[in-house]
Amino acid sequence: MTKVHVHKHDAVIVGAGGAGLMAALYASREVNVAVISKLYPTRSHTGAAQGGIGASLGNIGEDKWEWHAYDTVKGSDYLADQDAVDVLCKDAVDTVVELEHLGLPFDRLENGRISQRRFGGHTNNDTGRPVERACHAADRTGHMILQTLYQQCLKNNVNFFDEYQAVDLIRVGDTVRGVVTVNIATGDFHIFHSKAVLFATGGWGRCWEITSNAHSLTGDGAVLCLRNGIPLQDMEFFQFHPTGIFKLGILITEGVRGEGGVLINSEGERFMKRYAPSIKDLASRDVVSRAMFLEMKAGRGINGKNYVHLDVTPETVNKYYEEDGEDRRITREYIEAKLPDIADFTRTYLGVDPVREPMPVQPTAHYAMGGVPTDVDGRVLLDENKTVLPGLYAAGEVACVSVHGANRLGTNSLVDLVVFGKRSGKAMAAYCKAAKLQPLPDAPEARMVAEFERLRSNTGNTRPDTIRKAMQHTMTEKVGVFRVQEPMDEALEEMTDLKAQFIDDVYIEDKGKIFNTDLLETWELGNLLDLARVTAASAAARPESRGGHARDDFPERDDENWLKHTLCSLNEDGSLSLTYKDVVLGRYEPKPRVY
Ligand SMILES: Cc1cc2nc3c(=O)[nH]c(=O)nc-3n(C[C@H](O)[C@H](O)[C@H](O)COP(=O)(O)OP(=O)(O)OC[C@H]3O[C@@H](n4cnc5c(N)ncnc54)[C@H](O)[C@@H]3O)c2cc1C
Repeated sequence: MTKVHVHKHDAVIVGAGGAGLMAALYASREVNVAVISKLYPTRSHTGAAQGGIGASLGNIGEDKWEWHAYDTVKGSDYLADQDAVDVLCKDAVDTVVELEHLGLPFDRLENGRISQRRFGGHTNNDTGRPVERACHAADRTGHMILQTLYQQCLKNNVNFFDEYQAVDLIRVGDTVRGVVTVNIATGDFHIFHSKAVLFATGGWGRCWEITSNAHSLTGDGAVLCLRNGIPLQDMEFFQFHPTGIFKLGILITEGVRGEGGVLINSEGERFMKRYAPSIKDLASRDVVSRAMFLEMKAGRGINGKNYVHLDVTPETVNKYYEEDGEDRRITREYIEAKLPDIADFTRTYLGVDPVREPMPVQPTAHYAMGGVPTDVDGRVLLDENKTVLPGLYAAGEVACVSVHGANRLGTNSLVDLVVFGKRSGKAMAAYCKAAKLQPLPDAPEARMVAEFERLRSNTGNTRPDTIRKAMQHTMTEKVGVFRVQEPMDEALEEMTDLKAQFIDDVYIEDKGKIFNTDLLETWELGNLLDLARVTAASAAARPESRGGHARDDFPERDDENWLKHTLCSLNEDGSLSLTYKDVVLGRYEPKPRVY
């Protein structure tokens, strides 16, 4: 018999990264909150964020939130909803100051203000020059955010359920009544009965071969929504960060280029000068990743291989500062102080000392622009008419508000987490205060008990790893940085076939209950397969190039027909359907992106 435990709370938050903790901090001031996390909270991926959090504090050069908003909309290739972008950029300023007051140890300038640095796509709108907008704590900004928020949540008596994995959402008609979870240590099922649920489960970079994402980023929250009748928005837009460590994918923050680092090809050329003459190495990520691919395709990768050099040695940086007419210069000591973790990573993993020699880098799957559609208060939306599903919320990378549109600017995810985490935490608390706890349906865990039993007792021949590798390879080759119709159609078919093989033939070796990571990781693979399939379907249906979705066969952006959000739903018979939703425009009319 499977043991089932039931817990009652006003609100349940799934995920303890920056978004989940910020929501928990606010909601717990008013109602009883449980935070469920499959990882110990401070191991969440937010802790790996390096470079900074964007806010137009203007501590070094002049800055305005409207400039931040324009850069965000332009960076999004005009797919972001401009009402939401205004909220993001306006609220960013106060929220960063609030983090500081909560105890976050930002780097400081000599005058005591928060230190800021340059980052890709962030500009002074009058001059077009890079502006210092990224507030940072060395290159450990996410780590500091996570520690600060976790301490504040403990102080506020938030109830944490660490190493519990949510495996289903309890939805009855148009009401939400909690989540079904597994206690990873015991294998027992625990039901969290609540008035409201918030998903803050992060991204799904593990669909691709080379990724900056942690092993745990398998998109569980997005899939639980998809399987419970909620569409996923703009899934074709997945960001490839230009600078992952060659072969490993581990991220080298854009902060390196913010501090003056440059990308160099096999001919010793700073090639971004040709692709983005004005902003060069600090063009937005989609532009830089594509430029790198084109250089490698033209045989200008280092040693003919699929990587280029990222050079932040003072000799090179100062040479280009001089050439660009900038009066700043850097030293080795400065790099050691501003990028200590990066220096550590490259020395440890590559044996490369970044203050003396360049680092080998290649694009790495990094960030999901798409996800669960929400409004600016985190309320989940069911369709193109923006019908709200009462009691269900999403925030952070799993959500699509949409402030990042077709391409996210660096430092805008950390802002998204805290701005929309806070707003959804508040909205959820207000909802819980007015709502009644509705009864649980009979045996809400039954479907997942059966699914886990099936996986445990499957007698097939295929190990999960074989399917995972096939998925990651296909997604990298066919739904990667550059895309073409036929390979995308093939990828869609392959994902459908791999899911069928997963259901019929996958087998796991550990048949036990206690810490059965074999079982849980296999279940996660099923989630990745569904998300990969939705990504391929959404991508294959968009015949234009926009942001992270770049097509060789349709190289132009087509605003007349495709300035719209994709919504992809899973039907009961397992098929997918696509509908489209208008983009909210505002002050900024779509125009061609020029760098
Ligand atoms: C290496 C790296 C560097 C980055 N640097 C920056 C940067 O400098 N600036 C910036 O703006 N952005 C950066 N980003 C992006 C940004 O860090 C992420 O988008 C963001 O941290 C995601 O936060 P989150 O709160 O949505 O989720 P995460 O921090 O990923 O947390 C997810 C949480 O959900 C929980 N969870 C997931 N599934 C389940 C489940 N089924 N049941 C229970 N719990 C579950 C996990 O335990 C975890 O607590 C970086 C990303 C990476 C990978």
